[in-house]
This record gives sequence, C-alpha cells and structure tokens, in this order.
Amino acid sequence: MSFLGKKNAYHCDKCGAWLITIDIDKGVTPFSMQCKVERWGVNAHYRCEGTLLSNFYPPEPWPPNVSSIPEWEWYRPSKEEIQGYKPEYQEYYRQGGLKLRKILIPPLPPNPLELP
Ligand SMILES: [Zn+2]
Repeated sequence: MSFLGKKNAYHCDKCGAWLITIDIDKGVTPFSMQCKVERWGVNAHYRCEGTLLSNFYPPEPWPPNVSSIPEWEWYRPSKEEIQGYKPEYQEYYRQGGLKLRKILIPPLPPNPLELP
C-alpha cells in the first residue's frame, strides 16, 4: 500500500512534540524514530531522547493542537546519496525505504508595498 501524498503525524513519547510528515514518493516509512527536538543550553546542545511514534496516517481533521501542515517529507533517496552508507542501510533504501528531510520553504517574493 502506498501513502504517496498522504500526511502522517508522529508523536514523541517523552516531550510530547508532534512531527508532521508527507510522503512525496512511493515507499515505506518507519513506525518509530528518535525525536528531533533540539535545544541549546549554556554550554551544550541537547537532543530529546524520546521516541516519535507513528499515528498511521490518521484521517483529518486532527485535534486542534496538532498542525496539519507538514514540515518534513519522506522521499526516495538517489543511488548517489546512499553510496557511502552501510550495506544494510543501502539495502533498506533499495527495497523502498524512504528518507526523511525537512521541507525547505522558498523565501517569499518581496512585498511590493515595502519597496521604495
Ligand atoms: Zn521529544
């Protein structure tokens, strides 16, 4: 079953953060992964040690505290991208495993009202 174009909501079992994803390629995604919440302390960088758990592409509407705008996307990595990976990881992606990346939002065009 493909979830192409479908959104999923992962929930952290420790800090409670939500991570919203969208599948932009056909393939498989993990049930769980390490939380991506990070913060900077005075002398150190902390990463949440919780686990993000899949909610299995829940149908919308979602609860009001959960954003429905995906900030991360699952994509099929290219052959070149996985070249240096361990053989078992390369195999995982060859078998249809999708990779997660942050969606880059292009900057807005300049607002004409703000031009001199
Ligand atoms: Zn967390």
